[in-house]
Amino acid sequence: MNPQIKNEYVFTLMKENIFDAFDREHLWHPYTSTHNPLPTYKVAEARGCEVTLADGRKLIDGMSSWWCVIHGYNHPELNRAATEQIEKMSHVMFGGFTHQPAIDLGKLLLSILPPSMHHIFYADSGSVAVEVALKMAVQAQNNPRRTNFATIRTGYHGDTWNAMSVCDPVTGMHGVFGSALPVRFFAPSPQCRFGAEWNPEDFEPMRRLIEEHHEELAGVILEPVVQGAGGMRFYHPQYLRELRKECDKYGILLIFDEIATGFGRTGKLFAWEHAGVEPDIMTIGKSLTGGYMTFAAVATNRRVAEMISSGSAGVMMHGPTFMANPLACAVGLRSTQLLLEQDWQGKVAHVEELMRRYLAPACELPGVVDVRVLGGIGVVELDHDVDLGRFQRECVERGVWIRPFGRNAYIMPPYLAVTDEQVKTLAETLISLIADGYA
Ligand SMILES: *Cc1c(COP(=O)(O)O)cnc(C)c1O
Repeated sequence: MNPQIKNEYVFTLMKENIFDAFDREHLWHPYTSTHNPLPTYKVAEARGCEVTLADGRKLIDGMSSWWCVIHGYNHPELNRAATEQIEKMSHVMFGGFTHQPAIDLGKLLLSILPPSMHHIFYADSGSVAVEVALKMAVQAQNNPRRTNFATIRTGYHGDTWNAMSVCDPVTGMHGVFGSALPVRFFAPSPQCRFGAEWNPEDFEPMRRLIEEHHEELAGVILEPVVQGAGGMRFYHPQYLRELRKECDKYGILLIFDEIATGFGRTGKLFAWEHAGVEPDIMTIGKSLTGGYMTFAAVATNRRVAEMISSGSAGVMMHGPTFMANPLACAVGLRSTQLLLEQDWQGKVAHVEELMRRYLAPACELPGVVDVRVLGGIGVVELDHDVDLGRFQRECVERGVWIRPFGRNAYIMPPYLAVTDEQVKTLAETLISLIADGYA
């Protein structure tokens, strides 16, 4: 946006009281510059699939606040779980203490995670869960020569140091941090798409990489089937079956990062189910608390736990202050129960069908190179990066909340709460924004 128009716009927003001068001057937002930052819209409240701005305008939420809010905002059952727990204790240290919410959540998670999962490590956020998963793999190998990792391009695993090192080197932050980051092994992104025919050639680069470097590899980490923030790509589950075989051949630990894909988003409860092969270590987060608060977990099998516990340290070397926060466990428990109590699979399938129908016309638009839908994720890929500020301004004018990333404009509404009409409006508004040249 040209600076003059931008400043006028900022001024309009300030008049409307949905833009805050203190915020603009002092608060960092994700990936922003302090020089002329993109406008941020002040939210007063959120309910169901609607976000209400400070000036009273309501937006239909197409983002689930980055994959998290599966039940919609301000859910009475989750509010109750949080307030009931807060009356008892909102936090207590997990070193030497335990509590019912941690135990109940652990039991429920183990009943829905891959059958071989046997131990749970609670972490504070997705990125921390990824750090813990990588640490687990290194500790389990207990071999100073086997400390590195392989992954695939266009992945995203979080913003902390080691999580960054396994993000896509181009769309990720490698350029900025350079030699400060550990150097990992990258295979190209899988090319065979989900639902298309499998071509064994697709796995060859990873097979060769593992063959060549297995002596250095503690593990392979990747997002199963759906790559989220690094590229919004859906790939063939056969890739994971091949990878499992190859990891087993060399004693490499396989880590599935299901922080974005978990809890039904891809149409299965967890994305590994599309392939039917289990990881050795798995991370979950994001919608674990239904979007109420930051929380994540790492699960692993008996074998890895055994390897760690009989390794040189003898203990798992991690223990955050807010580990297993009771408030987060209580809300996570209720959120997961709530998901399982309903026909979640029917609902995701229905949202998937609606998005397929209503996003299909986007294929005809100039600048659109691909339209793809899986579960509660609908992606329109463009042949250029979207001008985020200009796009979001118009989005808000038209009453929806969609935040494209790079070339991908996508909608992933709270699939357990969204109405048919809301899905239709989100898809049609996205298409009209592209057609009118805002994307
Ligand atoms: C969001 C995300 C993370 C990082 O989670 P945070 O809670 O943002 O730290 C890691 N892996 C995947 C696949 C994600 O989508």
